[in-house]
Amino acid sequence: MLNVESDTGAPVRVVDIAPLRAAVALRDDDEGREAASIDFGRLVRKTPRAVVKPRSPDDVRRTVDFACRARCPVAVRGAGHSQAGQSLTDGGILLDMTGLDRIGEIRDGAVRVQAGATWRKLVRHVQARGYLPPVLTTSLDVTVGGTLSTGGFGASSHRYGAQSDNVDELVAVAGDARRLRCSRAENPALFDGVRGGLGQFAVITEARIRLRRALPRVRTFFLAYDDIEALLRDQRQVVSDDRFEYVASTCFPRTVGLARLLARGSPFAERRYVMSLTTEFDGELDAGGALAGLRGGRLLGVEDGSARDVPFGPDRSGPGNRDDRSLAHPWIEGILPWRDAGRRVAEVLAGLPRDLPTDTAVLLWSARRDRFGTPMLALPAGEMLMGFAVLPAVKPEALARLLPGLEAAGRRLTAMGGKRYLSGWIDYDHEQWRDHFGELWPRVLEWKASFDPHGILNPGFIRYRPAPPA
Ligand SMILES: Cc1cc2nc3c(=O)[nH]c(=O)nc-3n(C[C@H](O)[C@H](O)[C@H](O)COP(=O)(O)OP(=O)(O)OC[C@H]3O[C@@H](n4cnc5c(N)ncnc54)[C@H](O)[C@@H]3O)c2cc1C
Repeated sequence: MLNVESDTGAPVRVVDIAPLRAAVALRDDDEGREAASIDFGRLVRKTPRAVVKPRSPDDVRRTVDFACRARCPVAVRGAGHSQAGQSLTDGGILLDMTGLDRIGEIRDGAVRVQAGATWRKLVRHVQARGYLPPVLTTSLDVTVGGTLSTGGFGASSHRYGAQSDNVDELVAVAGDARRLRCSRAENPALFDGVRGGLGQFAVITEARIRLRRALPRVRTFFLAYDDIEALLRDQRQVVSDDRFEYVASTCFPRTVGLARLLARGSPFAERRYVMSLTTEFDGELDAGGALAGLRGGRLLGVEDGSARDVPFGPDRSGPGNRDDRSLAHPWIEGILPWRDAGRRVAEVLAGLPRDLPTDTAVLLWSARRDRFGTPMLALPAGEMLMGFAVLPAVKPEALARLLPGLEAAGRRLTAMGGKRYLSGWIDYDHEQWRDHFGELWPRVLEWKASFDPHGILNPGFIRYRPAPPA
């Protein structure tokens, strides 16, 4: 039996899961349910009544069909690396997609992959054949379906947009159990809704990902900046002229002992920045012109390497990336309008809680807006974008102290015209969701009604209706 409740606030109903058990392999023992009750954020706990690990796309369809008839919630989970319970359910069925991880042959510069495959597995597969996905997230242990459902930014997004912009076709099971193929030409509404759609309209089972040819060698230049305006000037330059394959920047607090002791504001009130610029090449690199026109930074060093190492490189194992189960991750990520971005970023950083761990990763990236084309990936207006992420890993007992300040940072980002990235620590009410999607909101409601008419997919995160009066 399955108790259906809570995510939607609806009263508890009891649903007999015997027909589902007869149709697919499921676990409803305490151990299986417990393992699927927490995500990378470790701020929200929700325990499913049953976990289905599909062995085929048909298993997904059978599960959604059952849930649709029984009107019971289904949470879709990839690697569970989101941080606000986006892939969890209290009392519903959890679809653990990680068993669907087959990868096909590369054809016409693209590869078909099942949604539960990790990007690590996909990279290994295509790299051996001289290709790479155009955009990779810092953690490769997330699933293709998971990042296509949030967007997926990476150090090459200034060139190629989000991962969700580099997919040609998807196969998905809608909330009414229809299995549909979608692309820009076929079922375009579903294609628009599902990319960046947080599993709200359909469960992705397969994607056709575009690839790019990778050159064998890379050189990375590291530049240090004391001043954010100088960093942003140089970042804008390299993003505009597209001269590097990867552009990434990190912000470090200036942990001057005395200031810290006197606890005068956030450790990030004073800071410095490092920008890494990576170029990919074959043969000899004419390095003379690589940094031409960049004036604001000091060259810290140059590293040569093999392009094979880039996706697995040291930048990807920073403190924010540690999946330490004893720590919570209330990540605040967003995209700001470019105008006045330096001042705005500095303001948010200075307002971070004073006892935030000094190893909190803070990432800054810039991109041209015209590289992005995923409707559900909300972005501020303007030609240029300023991506910004504060990625703390904190002891659970520190949360009560730190969360209000981190949430205030999130509110500051949106008050500045920014848009939050939806895999992080977010708890929006109905009005905030409407503001987040802006002009797209009526279409979001339309897609929900037409693809998931009974509201069974991932209920509770996006609040489609105002809360009833208390
Ligand atoms: C260490 C670390 C580094 C990260 N680095 C980056 C980064 O560089 N860039 C970036 O953009 N993000 C980054 N993220 C965020 C991460 O990419 C997103 O949280 C992503 O959604 C995680 O994928 P997942 O497989 O864990 O998905 P989950 O967390 O399991 O799911 C995320 C959302 O997608 C939905 N979903 C999952 N699978 C499917 C499917 N098959 N069909 C439909 N919906 C589905 C879920 O219901 C949920 O709403 C990082 C996260 C971590 C923890």
